[in-house]
Amino acid sequence: MIWPATRGIGKLTLFLNDREREKLHAIDEALQRIKDKTYGLCESCEGEIQLGRLKVLPFTRLCVKCQEETGKRERASKDARRRARLSQTCHH
Ligand SMILES: [Zn+2]
Repeated sequence: MIWPATRGIGKLTLFLNDREREKLHAIDEALQRIKDKTYGLCESCEGEIQLGRLKVLPFTRLCVKCQEETGKRERASKDARRRARLSQTCHH
């Protein structure tokens, strides 16, 4: 019996672990973006993602600049949480 492509993928995921499923999901999304003609465009600033970056990270959704900003924000919020925790435990 021949499964339609989409149902085939649904079946296939049953045999994959979480990481492989995630990868498959990323591929699926990239294919969808190619279909929507948004592939290679940054999700955040809608600018073009550099070709060199796409070669290394074909499924990335952010350009270098936005990726850095996101990373900075995540680090900053982690720092803020750590500071908040420290100030709670430190009584003067
Ligand atoms: Zn961007």
